[in-house]
Amino acid sequence: MSAMRLAVVGAAGRMGGALVRAIADMDGVELAGAVEREGAPALGQDAGVLAGLQPLGVQVTDDPLPVFSACDGVLDFTAPAATRAFAELAAQARIVHVIGTTGMSDEDVEAIRPAARHARLVKSGNMSLGVNLLAALVRRAAAALDEDFDIEVLEMHHRNKVDAPSGTALLLGEAAAEGREIDLASRSVRQRDGITGPRPRGDIGFATLRGGTVIGDHSVLFSGPLETITLSHHAQDRQIFARGAVKAALWARDRKPGLYSMDDVLGLAD
Ligand code: NAD
Repeated sequence: MSAMRLAVVGAAGRMGGALVRAIADMDGVELAGAVEREGAPALGQDAGVLAGLQPLGVQVTDDPLPVFSACDGVLDFTAPAATRAFAELAAQARIVHVIGTTGMSDEDVEAIRPAARHARLVKSGNMSLGVNLLAALVRRAAAALDEDFDIEVLEMHHRNKVDAPSGTALLLGEAAAEGREIDLASRSVRQRDGITGPRPRGDIGFATLRGGTVIGDHSVLFSGPLETITLSHHAQDRQIFARGAVKAALWARDRKPGLYSMDDVLGLAD
């Protein structure tokens, strides 16, 4: 089969550079386009050079339309409003849209759902194999342990991260809620400050740390009477997310239109 032609939107971002490097490094894919927002300093530059590689002959543009119509898939780690617009374009072009963008509200997710009638969307708050395996383990642990065990999700990221808790922390909280068969939205505690009173039984707590250059550390604690179980993941390089995104695109290439997750890609769906 010919190489899958992939475009990177948000090509000048931290993940954008990682995605360009992953495409250049992996078999079965080639870089077919690079998009940035209007007015971005990177416009007109070679996407390879921008990512610290040799020139790849692909210039960064702010016009996504011709890029989407000339490629088989788009890798998107940008921002929620941008991702909503890109999902529509991916549907028009009937291509693969891999969505790594986090901080999307329920409304944002609803807005991209119609695109899944025509495009193959793969969306995950974390594209790494390790974190998706961790989520599967958390689901099992939460199903095995009753509400005597308090569940807390702890995360730390670099100082420039703009959303909290991280998409991965929410993904892990969702896995715990699924295991326990409860609704995360009504049972999660995102903040504690002042006289909070005792911890309500059965809630799932989140704690956020920000600082330095940490790529992404996550732990899920199950704290019960006289014992605590901790399941953790430590990301050492953002290349793990980029490589996962490329794998997701290759997996989605021959699927029917739909909205898929990394569990589907990695065969971890229960
Ligand atoms: P970043 O700020 O370095 O990069 C985002 C890029 O998107 C910027 O270059 C920005 O100019 C560009 N952009 C914004 N709007 C655009 C538009 N309309 N058109 C084109 N480009 C646009 O951020 P980052 O650290 O690379 O993270 C990006 C997103 O990916 C965040 O939501 C982050 O949480 C998420 N992320 C997800 C995973 C995962 O595995 N799912 C891993 C790491 C980061």
